[in-house]
Amino acid sequence: MPRPIQATIHTQALAYNLQQARRHAPDARVWAVVKANAYGHGIERAFAGLRGADGFALLDLAEAQCVRLLGWRGPVLLLEGVFEQRDLELCSRLDLWHTVHCEQQIDMLAAHKTNVPQRVFLKMNTGMNRLGFAPNQYRAAWTRLNALPQVDEISHMTHFSDADGTPGVARQMAVFEAHTADLPGERTVSNSAALLRHGGLSGDWVRPGIAVYGSAPDYPAHDAVHWGLQPTMTLQAQIIAVQNLQAGDTVGYGSQFCAEAPMRIGVVACGYADGYPRVCPTGTPVLVDGAPSRTLGRVSMDMLSVDMTDLPQAGQGSTVTLWGRAANGAVLPIDAVAAKANTLAYELMCALAQRVPVVVEE
Ligand SMILES: *Cc1c(COP(=O)(O)O)cnc(C)c1O
Repeated sequence: MPRPIQATIHTQALAYNLQQARRHAPDARVWAVVKANAYGHGIERAFAGLRGADGFALLDLAEAQCVRLLGWRGPVLLLEGVFEQRDLELCSRLDLWHTVHCEQQIDMLAAHKTNVPQRVFLKMNTGMNRLGFAPNQYRAAWTRLNALPQVDEISHMTHFSDADGTPGVARQMAVFEAHTADLPGERTVSNSAALLRHGGLSGDWVRPGIAVYGSAPDYPAHDAVHWGLQPTMTLQAQIIAVQNLQAGDTVGYGSQFCAEAPMRIGVVACGYADGYPRVCPTGTPVLVDGAPSRTLGRVSMDMLSVDMTDLPQAGQGSTVTLWGRAANGAVLPIDAVAAKANTLAYELMCALAQRVPVVVEE
């Protein structure tokens, strides 16, 4: 028998969350962002749930190739654009749209030999200071691109640094609008947080990632239930041993947890080598056969321990949900686990380890 741990990808939840995203910007087209192998879900596995999107946005040319091999003929956007000259040949061959965020990418386009002009998304740096042309250089970049026979339609793009909280998006949006107002072309500005919290400014295309994967982009201000999102990934494993503790007994490496009274604990076949964060402290929520409980002591490589003192029916073979949906329908939001690890659901999803078997639930 393989080790009793499994991740499940929920196809219908992906489709449902995509619909929820659309509700916030009914007039916009939706890029399903599938970078990082669909936030750890696997592009092939997530594809069935996301095929209702208007396009797929990603970073990696191999991932773009994967989306085309899955039979997708609609738009595909490279969010970081091309990295070297020959990437443009692949853009031509696979009909990829690409971001242009720096002069070098315009140079590459100018040197590209093609009869079919390419659709590009010109990116403005409105304050994130990651990718994009400074606002006062944007028009020159547009003018240069617009003169190239290799370039077809030019769209406008920026990315917000604070859409999930304060100071919000107003300042960046004002800069973007001031420098694009009289330029022709479609606009795209919103990630999940901007879409859910500031849907009204969504532009022609929106770019939700994390919301499609069922996590609230502004947790804990709002949770997934507030935004009407369903978990798209469940991580579960079985109890492979039970220990009865006396007061004073400790659990795991470093004896970080000490029982104050007799306790019953379960040892779960999931550890940090499966992608469960080692930094999750005692008290991180879990579901044992769908009932709320908590972790105890340090997470080790292949195992972690959970409290079963108040769950007399639970025992060897019980299923522990580390995040996602239990068989009885109870949900443990991945955001709640991520918060205990001082990180975001993004990181947990992306870190799901290769060794965990994954099944796709239709
Ligand atoms: C990752 C990414 C997104 C999606 O962000 P979420 O917070 O997951 O919604 C949108 N736009 C760009 C440019 C990105 O890199």
